[in-house]
Amino acid sequence: MRALSASELLGVWERGRGLPSVQRAMVLLDSACPEISSDSLARLSIGQRDGFLLTLREWALGPHLVGMATCPECGDRLELNLDVADVRATPENEHEPDEEFSIAVSDYEVQFRLINTQDLVAIFDGKDAVFARHMLLNRCILAVHYRGEECPLDRLPLSVVNEVLERMELLDPQADVQLALSCPSCGHQWEAAFDIVSFFWTEIESWVRRILHEVHTLARAYGWRESDILAMSPHRRQLYLELVDE
Ligand SMILES: [Zn+2]
Repeated sequence: MRALSASELLGVWERGRGLPSVQRAMVLLDSACPEISSDSLARLSIGQRDGFLLTLREWALGPHLVGMATCPECGDRLELNLDVADVRATPENEHEPDEEFSIAVSDYEVQFRLINTQDLVAIFDGKDAVFARHMLLNRCILAVHYRGEECPLDRLPLSVVNEVLERMELLDPQADVQLALSCPSCGHQWEAAFDIVSFFWTEIESWVRRILHEVHTLARAYGWRESDILAMSPHRRQLYLELVDE
């Protein structure tokens, strides 16, 4: 993986507009990882995918994350100031895409793999949440044995299914990052999910508006081409913009 140039990030924004979040994540990774096939990227676990996106975000916009949250109790808006390190989860062990795991719970032994982008794409049209969950389990649970005998997934008790899902979360912690928040107005404390895909995409959208305005100003003042203006370092572009304003 390598950092995206300004022109590449603009291209990512153009290709990802109007796409669902899971596809936007793939557009970002495909652009930053030309050495890895799309198929392999789509088979990274969601936690691995989000770890890559977090790194890409840090390379593009720095380690500091600023966001907003709404207190569910009093409705006040609070500003979140975080560093990439605050939302970077480290799994106990590094794992390979498609790696198989197993868990033994009360006479059941279950083989499974972690949820990846291909799974999320497959359940995307499953409008029914129960059906989507069933599909997801069907894809990620590879084999079930009860006292050594093969057993259909439908016969797996809910308590065992929940244990499998919990183990998946432990193995892939970056897939579900929760922020512990506290409201300065009313003191309410709660947890909110941090979703790197929507966070980064919102930032990309405002970055695009800013950079296109800069291109517009410089192109109008000097007649330079878009590609040349985008290829400048932000610092150099900024100095020219100050000169235009004089
Ligand atoms: Zn509050």
